[in-house]
Amino acid sequence: MAFDPASRIQDQLVFGEFGDVNPSITDSSTYTFLDPARMAEVFEHEIEGCFLYSRHWNPTNRTLAEALARMEDAESAQVMGSGMGAISTTLVALCSQGDEIVCGRNIYGGTYALMKNLLPRFGVTTRFVDLRDHAAVRAAMTPRTKVLYAESISNPLLEVSDIPALAAIAHAAGATLVVDNTFSPMILSPLRLGADIVVHSMTKFINGTSDCVAGCVISSKAFIDRLNDVNSGPSMLLGPVLDSFRAASILKNLHSLHIRMRQHGHNAAHIARRLSTLGYDVHYPGLDNHPHHALLLGQMNPGYGWGGMMTLDAGSAEAANQLMKRMQEEKVGYLAVSLGYFKTLFSSPGRSTSSELPPEEREKAGISDGLIRFSIGLDADIEHTAARIERCIAEAGVKPSVRAQR
Ligand code: PLP
Repeated sequence: MAFDPASRIQDQLVFGEFGDVNPSITDSSTYTFLDPARMAEVFEHEIEGCFLYSRHWNPTNRTLAEALARMEDAESAQVMGSGMGAISTTLVALCSQGDEIVCGRNIYGGTYALMKNLLPRFGVTTRFVDLRDHAAVRAAMTPRTKVLYAESISNPLLEVSDIPALAAIAHAAGATLVVDNTFSPMILSPLRLGADIVVHSMTKFINGTSDCVAGCVISSKAFIDRLNDVNSGPSMLLGPVLDSFRAASILKNLHSLHIRMRQHGHNAAHIARRLSTLGYDVHYPGLDNHPHHALLLGQMNPGYGWGGMMTLDAGSAEAANQLMKRMQEEKVGYLAVSLGYFKTLFSSPGRSTSSELPPEEREKAGISDGLIRFSIGLDADIEHTAARIERCIAEAGVKPSVRAQR
């Protein structure tokens, strides 16, 4: 039977202190002990049901982490104050001075900047490669490579990673495959496909209400314990912990994630199909002319759609700006970065979320000046939205492209 992440979350029942249907929120940074000897024991090793200090663990974060581990079919998870907190903590745990990372060329700009600009200060360097070219990935791996890093569906170009193939390459080289699954929660289960560690920016689809920044790391119990080690764990010592009030609100939203992912996917497929039929240069992995359509089909969990993200190339920065302005005026959604919100968001990655990449890297990755990234919302009447977008495209003078209909 196919793996079903939503049913796994549904099976988690946690009661509040008075039998509340929502688990109680931990409103404490520290925890009391009746016996000093017990406190010393908890410092030395984890004891089920015992909490010490909220930077380490607290019950609310634990409940959310357990739900996320269920979703990704993992042993354990840790929740963090941001997606970047999850990514940086994971990389610091895996890499020491002199170690190397091999990373996809087409990734979120913040992740790129972390690897390109910050980690080299600590002696950790990164080679950026085209993850579709497996020979190039294999060639980039050296005995010093500790991490192969990929986004399951990449930001912003929606390239799909072949996770089993990347896992085989990583493991043959003795490296760990880390997959950022931010664009495709529930749709893809990277750990089941061979990845070792999954990270998410929960700021996006998992939370879904664009009211907070949060992240998580999901993996084996051994790895999560390592992150939280009191003496040497990067999570414990760098301190990117999530606030328990946010953990509680994200947990509530997580229980509607499966419904939201289906609706995001349904709406995005509708818009992408319509614009593609009209000849516009649209990228959406759910279109059967997308170069990675079959690759995604072979890896995805059934029933959650093809995701809420699509791109449209307006042809030039001027046309993209004009179109985004018109779409905001026409109430299609907001001109804003981020994704996974219940309303449609759109932005130009070249001048926002991927601006950390130098122009030549953006060109190599295929991020053109006219590219618009859409996170399609949960609109009840998507046909109405499609008609509005079509009108805005015509008014902005965006022309159908010969590159369309891929
Ligand atoms: N990973 C991806 C794919 C993202 O798009 C982002 C943010 O846009 C991040 C990680 C970073 O997440 P956060 O903003 O929650 O730190």
